[in-house]
Order: sequence, then C-alpha cells, then structure tokens
Amino acid sequence: MNVRNPVTGRIERPLAPVPPDRLAGVAAELRMMAPAWRDADRGTLLSRFGAALAADDELLAALVADTGRVAESLLERQIVAGLIDRWVRQAPALLAPPAEFPASLPGVHVGGDLVPYELVGAITPWNFPLLLGLIDAVPALAAGCAVVVKPSEVTPRFIEPLMRLVPDGLPLRVVEGDGATGSALVDLVDAVVFTGSVPTGRLVAQAAARAFVPAYLELGGKDPAIVLAGADLDRATSAILWGGTANAGQSCQSIERVYVAREVHDEFLTLLADKAAQVGLTCEGGPIGPIIAPEQPDVLAAHLADAVAKGAVVHTGGEIERHGGGHWCRPTVLSGVDHTMLVMTEETFGPLLPVMAVDGPDEAVALANDSVYGLSAAVFAATEEEARAVAARLHAGAVSVNDASLTALVHEGEKHSFRLSGLGGSRMGPASISRFLRRRAFLVNRSDAADPWWHATKE
Ligand code: NAD
Repeated sequence: MNVRNPVTGRIERPLAPVPPDRLAGVAAELRMMAPAWRDADRGTLLSRFGAALAADDELLAALVADTGRVAESLLERQIVAGLIDRWVRQAPALLAPPAEFPASLPGVHVGGDLVPYELVGAITPWNFPLLLGLIDAVPALAAGCAVVVKPSEVTPRFIEPLMRLVPDGLPLRVVEGDGATGSALVDLVDAVVFTGSVPTGRLVAQAAARAFVPAYLELGGKDPAIVLAGADLDRATSAILWGGTANAGQSCQSIERVYVAREVHDEFLTLLADKAAQVGLTCEGGPIGPIIAPEQPDVLAAHLADAVAKGAVVHTGGEIERHGGGHWCRPTVLSGVDHTMLVMTEETFGPLLPVMAVDGPDEAVALANDSVYGLSAAVFAATEEEARAVAARLHAGAVSVNDASLTALVHEGEKHSFRLSGLGGSRMGPASISRFLRRRAFLVNRSDAADPWWHATKE
C-alpha cells in the first residue's frame, strides 16, 4: 500500500505498518504506564499536550498534505485543542465516585468507585484524521486509560508530528497501519472505539466479541434534511449547502438528501443551485477540497451516473474533474430524484445534494426514515415547535433544528447512532467518558448484629 497525495495524485511513499510484534510491544509499554497514569495529574499533562498541538505548524502541514485542504485542517486542529480543554475542565466532576447511600437491607451501605479500562484501542477513518483520531482518545485518557490509536492508511502523515507533541508520561501512542493492523489491535486492548464504514464496523464488532471486549461503533450515514413550507428558504439553502458540501461532503454527518415541501420546491431549488454554483474548488481559491480517498471518485461517479440514467436533472457540478493530478467534485445539486437511486439510499460521501419534492410533513418523515442509517438529520420550519414536532419522528441520533450538520461543531449533546449508523454509548456529552469506566460497588455492612440468613452454627 502507498501513501498518495490527494492534490497531486502522486504516490509519496509506501505505507509502513507497524509490525505485529512491535504493536504488541506498544500495547505492553502502555499497560506498564497505565498505573502511574491513573495516579497522575492527568489534567496538567493533557493541557500541555493540547497547548503544544494548538500551536504546531508541522502537524498542520501534515494534515494539509494528508487531506489536501487548509481551512478544514485549521478548524480540525482548533476543535481538537478545544475538546482537550473541555475534557480537562469537565473530567474531575465526572470522575467523582458515586455518592454513598443506605441499601434496602438494614445496616448495609452502597458506595462505589469508577475503574478505567487499562488499555483502549481507537481505529479511525481518513476524513478528519486528527479530530477522529483523538475525539474518543482524549476522554479515554481523561478517564485514566492508556490509548493506542490506529488511523486510516489513507492519511498517515500526521502521525509522526503528532507523536512528537505527546509529553513524557502521557500514555498515548498513534501507530501507522492498515486494516490488518486494526484487526490485530482489537486482540490487544480492553475496549475498542471504531469510527468508519458499516462493513468494517461489523468486522470489528465480531472481533471484539471474540476477544470479549466492548466495541463502540461510529459508522456511516445518509443524513436527510427536511424543509417545510414556511421555512426561511434563504437560511435553509445556505445551511444545507454548507452541511452537504463542507469538506467536499466527506463527513459522516453531511446532508446527503433533501426533502422539500412541494409548494416551495422550485424556489428552494433555484436558490440552492444559484448558491452552489458560487462555491469553487480550493485549486481555484474556493473552499471545496479534493476527494481524498482513492476509491471515492468511482463511488461518486457511479451515484451520479445511476441518478442521471434514472431521470435525475443536474443543476450544478455533476462531474468528477481532474486538476493537477487530484480528483475534485463541485457542489452538485440534483432534482427529479427518488428512492430507486443510489444517490438517495447509499452513502455517497461527496458534495452531492439531491432534492426531492414532498407532499407535507408525513411524506417527508416517511422518506427520511426510509434508510438503513440513522446518524443525524436536519429540519427547517417556520417555527421551532413545528420543526421539533417533525424532528421527534425521525430515526436519527441527532437533529439540527433550523440549521444543518451541527454535530460537526457541537459535541456537548449526548446522542446515540440509530440503526446501522452505530452501536454503543454516546460519544458526545458527558456519557462519552463513562464508556471507558466500569462501576465497582462497595457493599458495606456497618451493623454489629449477625445477619439473619447466615447458617446457624455453634458458638
Ligand atoms: P473504513 O471502514 O474503510 O476504515 C476505517 C478504519 O478501519 C481504518 O483505519 C482501517 O484501516 C481500519 N480497518 C479496515 N479493516 C479493518 C479490520 N478488519 N479490522 C480493524 N480495522 C480495520 O472507513 P473509511 O473509509 O476510512 O471512513 C469512511 C467511513 O467512516 C464512512 O462510512 C463514514 O460515514 C464513516 N465515518 C463515521 C463517523 C461517525 O462518527 N459516525 C465519522 C467519520 C466517518
């Protein structure tokens, strides 16, 4: 396997997966560090890591080389620095032992403590290498775990500069490798957090079950946006355009299909296509970066060809372009789409916005829920109440109301992923940290009297 530059298309170097014995050595080294880490001033060391990361330009340059984009890489580094800061502030309260209380049995009191898993493994995708590499690792470290991260083979350049920033004593190791490395990692850890596709997620879940360790899965999506008749169309089109095309649509929570009330469909479509046509590629000074993963241009081309063959109309974009060796796709607005088309049912992971007219909220909800996925969604309406009523009927773990794709930026709200979009505790909000802690109960009998159920014996 080779490491390819998404902007130039050039192969820069071969991938260098950590050999299995070295990976086992990394796991053993981290397990040695874990007891001291549980007793350490974790906040201080994490803060030092966060401050170093926020200011490091080599890390930024590597991220830009990995993904071909500048604005999102800057944002990624900023979000990660913010999330480290947030966990340092929030963790102490969340790690406080549960309050003791009297049990139903007279004389017995129930207390407890929280026991971190010793070693957590995180297996992560290419679309936000730094953010998704650390989004679960940081709360796991804050909880007192040691962590190995195995990022995607598509974007390994950021690993080396990131590892240079890890302070002594912080039990975090990020290793280069491919699917086989990820697979080997599952057998070495006490809990797995996986972010990636549904097929790989199934494999990881099966391997974790064999190893008898918990697996938290964050998988794909096909997020719908619903626009009801009274919605502010200027706001809805701007938000949906950003939600569907930021990072060239290569985000799990991208808007991938839009259902618009028939009475405002034409006006919405004209506005959306007009705005989409103004958003250019980074190679021309615009915000839309290249298609990062080598297999992705074929997926986009297949979804476009299938839609057009079945009668869809392309209003803007609609082609995979070659510039300077990389693959690019402009914001693409489609109409005349339906659920026989791949573009409405399978994850595209590109800047495609298929727009479908619907007859009222019931049809919008039925179509939005007609999916194997349930990651997130967006609803636009005249009032918050109207939007919330529709949001409450959606099979999705998070719904942005009168905005789109807010889970990219707001990590405080606890959410589950519905259906095939994931399994396990919430990665967002306070619950994120409790995934890495086991609760141990102390059942203390403070009574001097003999328990009535003890076997009768002679004094
Ligand atoms: P992928 O499933 O191909 O790979 C993800 C990771 O799994 C990589 O590090 C890969 O090396 C590793 N891997 C491959 N085979 C493995 C195996 N058998 N055992 C263990 N690890 C293995 O996903 P991708 O193409 O890198 O990422 C894109 C996908 O990720 C999309 O489906 C997207 O929706 C999803 N995603 C989800 C979220 C979320 O929070 N729900 C966030 C970002 C991306």
